[in-house]
Amino acid sequence: MAEASTPASPIPEGTGYFASDSTLPFHAPDFTKISEDDYVPAFEQGMNIQRAEVQAIIDNPAAPTLENTIVALEKSGQMLGRVATVFFALTGSNTTDRLDDINTEISPKLTAHGDAISLNPELFARVKAVYDKRATMRMTAEDAKLLDETYEGMVHAGALLNDAQRERVKAINTELSSVTTEFGQRARNAMAEQPVFFDNRAELAGLSEADIKAAADLATEKGQPGKFAIALQNTTQQPLLPAMENRAAREKLFKASYHRADGTTAIDTRDLVAKIATLRAEKAALFGEPDWASYTMYDRMVESPQAALDFMGQMVPALAATQQREAGVLNEKIRAEGGNFDVQPWDWYRFANMVKAERYEVDDDEVMQYFQLDKVLEDGVFFMANKLYGLSFERRTDLPVYHPDVWVYTVRDADGSDLGIFYFDPFQRPSKRGGAWMSNFVDQSYLWDKKPAIYNVLNIPKAPAGEPQLVSFDWVNTTFHEFGHALHGFFADQKYPSLSGTATARDFVEYPSQVHEMWMTYPEVLQNYAKHYRTGETIPAELVEKIEAASKFNQGYDFGEVVEAALLDMKWHALSAEQAAAIDTPQEVSDYQARALSDLGLEVALVPPRYRTSYFNHIFSSPSGYSAGYYSYLWTQMLDHDSRNWFRQNGGLTRANGDHYRKTVLSRGGTMDYGEMYRNFAGRDPNVRYMLEALGLVAGEGAADGEASDGAVPAQTAE
Ligand SMILES: [Zn+2]
Repeated sequence: MAEASTPASPIPEGTGYFASDSTLPFHAPDFTKISEDDYVPAFEQGMNIQRAEVQAIIDNPAAPTLENTIVALEKSGQMLGRVATVFFALTGSNTTDRLDDINTEISPKLTAHGDAISLNPELFARVKAVYDKRATMRMTAEDAKLLDETYEGMVHAGALLNDAQRERVKAINTELSSVTTEFGQRARNAMAEQPVFFDNRAELAGLSEADIKAAADLATEKGQPGKFAIALQNTTQQPLLPAMENRAAREKLFKASYHRADGTTAIDTRDLVAKIATLRAEKAALFGEPDWASYTMYDRMVESPQAALDFMGQMVPALAATQQREAGVLNEKIRAEGGNFDVQPWDWYRFANMVKAERYEVDDDEVMQYFQLDKVLEDGVFFMANKLYGLSFERRTDLPVYHPDVWVYTVRDADGSDLGIFYFDPFQRPSKRGGAWMSNFVDQSYLWDKKPAIYNVLNIPKAPAGEPQLVSFDWVNTTFHEFGHALHGFFADQKYPSLSGTATARDFVEYPSQVHEMWMTYPEVLQNYAKHYRTGETIPAELVEKIEAASKFNQGYDFGEVVEAALLDMKWHALSAEQAAAIDTPQEVSDYQARALSDLGLEVALVPPRYRTSYFNHIFSSPSGYSAGYYSYLWTQMLDHDSRNWFRQNGGLTRANGDHYRKTVLSRGGTMDYGEMYRNFAGRDPNVRYMLEALGLVAGEGAADGEASDGAVPAQTAE
């Protein structure tokens, strides 16, 4: 034990750019001063410093307190945080081979570093000493939350286990890591090594010349010149199916996808599924939890597997009815086209696309002419933020950016004070990964007296020089979505960075961003930004209505396959250790899946899950991944549509509504119970019906009663 006067572990001093905060406004990263050579030494120094800081907490001779233990831990790792923030921003949006190599080298070290802290028994003893006297301490609600999260995070990692249990958990973690990696590889091989072969060109009738050429090339590459081969894609449905005219060929392609890795060919993942389910259930049992879902959902908004199952169960009657109704429509279309068969999954999208084109034909190029990027951002997104929250924005060019296509704005609050700084990085480029996301360069926190520096990254195709920068409907929607995340970050009002802004649960974080999508087509907003790039004419309301009507089409399938996958995920992870251990052969895995699916009450033969067990990468290809979490996509959508209903009922785009949402939700970060947060906003619990209405699964568009029902879904369906 260290003497108080002679600390055993002095805190080392960092060197280089990341050793101290940026001196630019808002602590904005100074990209002109950062070189790729800085990262590895900064990561190493950052980890060394944090190790020493943790040791100093342990060695502190004073009795453990909130300040000298919990807050001291929260304060540790500043340099590591600074380098990681910039580094991972750039590996996502503007990477290089060198950055990728550094990432490969540094990621396992960061994992080990984090584990060494959360599993440090001496540190945990101090954390627990504070936690155990929490009832007698005077704390703010945020202090209490930080204490809870720190304690529970360490417990979740295994801090309360005895030595034998901890050894077993480590062994399970190692085995899970290798078995799940093996699952991912086999599932990938089941696609890459098992394309579907066709003997003649007639079987591929309907495909484009380019697709047929690619199929011929792939067959040659696979040693069968003269034939045609189609590679399988990720999901159960396959993108080429709708174009294929030959029904037998469609069935062949679909069945190869559906039976992927399920024992019908040499590549089989079911033995791995049995192992993964067993190991996860055993690990949960070591933590005293009944099943893996209960273990892993400890920090979610939905607190138990049963609650997630009940939530999804509420959708089943309307969804099943919609699936049957849609199948009826498709059967009619098949007859009209001269077919004398009933629709099967391999026919579904071919005929659904035909019906959709007849009913809702929209010319995407025509729609894009109303969306110019700068107007979408400044007259659309920023206008919405001004109307709801009173914010104003000023473009600035004095701060360094990591790529010339990044735009920077100062964001000001309603009273004119600085709220933070916003980076907008809209364009697709080879150095950027796909998709769209938001994150922070600097987290808001009163602990460090910092305002947020936030970026949105998108992948909008860049127009050729000299042409207007037009944006597709979907990318406009994504621009509003990502800015919703940004607002969650800008309105953060926390002392502690680890509870600040978007630092919320997996099944909550997408909710505030989804809500902001509603303003994209809100008439007052639309009229302000959606102007034809040549004529200046506002987008016709009928065009927007058509697009919105089209979004309700085919949801029995599109939404149904996601619900089924989410239910299947939960069924696999609500098994007790005993139940999981009983599923110990590939056949048992198939049987359990069949039982689980037939229990759902949905039309699983017509609408199979988006992923079946044997290729469900989200839940089986990494130690934790999205396991017991696939429902999150549905849950946040439910919160979103319930909130849209609240806004509509209360007058829509008003400062009063914006301020209420900011006060109750957007400013709260991860500091309180999510159910309570939601009730503070809406005055009641969320209800699934508004999502079902929005998706066209039940009638009642525009239902105006704000009363909470019991969540029961009306039986009648639209049309
Ligand atoms: Zn999002």
